[in-house]
Amino acid sequence: MCEPTAEGLKRYPESAGYNVDLASPIPCVCKPACWVRCAGECGCQACSVQFTTFCEASGRLTALVPTSQAEEEALYAYRHPGGTEPPTIIRRRKFDGR
Ligand SMILES: [Zn+2]
Ligand SMILES: [Zn+2]
Repeated sequence: MCEPTAEGLKRYPESAGYNVDLASPIPCVCKPACWVRCAGECGCQACSVQFTTFCEASGRLTALVPTSQAEEEALYAYRHPGGTEPPTIIRRRKFDGR
């Protein structure tokens, strides 16, 4: 396993750059160019796991299928906590059956 990057240290300050959600800590290898809430697109395992944890914690298990619409929704929710503008797909579902 490699060491956390300087950016990883900033993202996981309480655990010295590691995601400690799992039994074995994973170093965050993010770069400053990453999303504020990186979901592992850069190849960072720590952030990939963090996104997975977010999906599980919010009951978005279908979001774990790569490139699915559910994943898009989950990514949006992950990156816009408390955001006021939901993506079209969520808005549509909300008004279904009315
Ligand atoms: Zn990372
Ligand atoms: Zn990253």
